[in-house]
Amino acid sequence: MQVTRDIFNDVMVPNYAPSDVIPVKGEGSRVWDQNGKEFIDFAGGIAVNCLGHCHPNLVNALKEQGEKIWHLSNVMTNEPALRLAKKLVDATFAEKVYFANSGAEANEAALKLARRVALDNYGAEKSQIIAFNKAFHGRTFFTVTVGGQAAYSDGFGPKPGDIDHVDYNDLAAFEAMISDKTCAVMIEPLQGEGGIISPTNEFMQGVRDLCTKHNAVLIFDEVQTGVGRTGDLYAYEGLGITPDILTTAKALGGGFPIAAMLTSTDIAKHLKIGTHGSTYGGNALACAVAEAAFDTVNTNEVLAGVKEREQLFREGFSAINAKYNVFSEVRGKGLLLGAVLTEDYAGRAKDFLVASAENGLMSLVAGANVIRFTPSLVIPLEDIKEGLNRFEKAVAQVVKG
Ligand SMILES: *Cc1c(COP(=O)(O)O)cnc(C)c1O
Repeated sequence: MQVTRDIFNDVMVPNYAPSDVIPVKGEGSRVWDQNGKEFIDFAGGIAVNCLGHCHPNLVNALKEQGEKIWHLSNVMTNEPALRLAKKLVDATFAEKVYFANSGAEANEAALKLARRVALDNYGAEKSQIIAFNKAFHGRTFFTVTVGGQAAYSDGFGPKPGDIDHVDYNDLAAFEAMISDKTCAVMIEPLQGEGGIISPTNEFMQGVRDLCTKHNAVLIFDEVQTGVGRTGDLYAYEGLGITPDILTTAKALGGGFPIAAMLTSTDIAKHLKIGTHGSTYGGNALACAVAEAAFDTVNTNEVLAGVKEREQLFREGFSAINAKYNVFSEVRGKGLLLGAVLTEDYAGRAKDFLVASAENGLMSLVAGANVIRFTPSLVIPLEDIKEGLNRFEKAVAQVVKG
């Protein structure tokens, strides 16, 4: 069967608009399409491929576990799940782990758990969930409603209730909204999809303190920031603020679907036997690959390397901007970076992405005004240099029109 992009339009539900390129092979931070055209990957499958493509440690784990046992269901536990859970607990604030398959599912579990905690400890009155404008938490109906873009949750009938939104980094507005009726606050420790927006220290500390004061569970959605992305294993460490529940997905499996919700024993106990679950959650094959990814990322060498690479990216963007004057700022942390377009190029992030692809570079956008970069955490330094060369060509192309 000859596989062409036309098949997408013929047989796929039209909720995505993928580019015409169909990649068929990847190695490290280089990718080749059906025609043999080479790309440097600054996108990393949207902050998923934390070790690039086909990293030998992940390939080995996949092959080894693939010849042992793949799946058991949660009627029985399995060794890779237990090892990975132990490592997550040892490396973070958490004492308990729940496995899921996607960021949305980990967040769904976190929100359901928070509602249970409030119900068990304080009663049905305490059900308000506070989240933030422009936030992204996934696409299940609960998580997309908690997300801060009504456009994504509108049009599907009655929404889950008692969910309110306030502006990110607006501590006064948050303080005015939170009360003893608030059961949970869900927040990204650096907004990704919303445009690469870092929190101020004052805001995050204020949110933490107010959650504690009102007995509201603070949930950090680290689906995009987690597993080394910001240069810390989890972004909460860099902020010096500990959540009550943390969700992690994307990079956790390095390209294999898996997610986890991490929390304390005291909170976890409310998810009693039978209250929640997932057929594939904790799948042995997924956990084996994630364990290899986790072991590889959670080293001083890789985490320090993220900060070193961030510097190279920032220097490269500055040099390009000195020539073309297209960015008003470069923001973000570690290898979660956003180049914000100036007024002159407002709304045209997609044009830069398309020009980049033409020049052999995979990049992303975060909204209409921000070009987003989430490469492999171990991208070779020469690939950064060559990718920046290609990006400069793309910028020149857009500037020339
Ligand atoms: C990607 C993302 C999600 C959703 O993850 P899925 O695996 O697509 O369900 C949730 N929260 C944040 C912060 C994300 O970046």
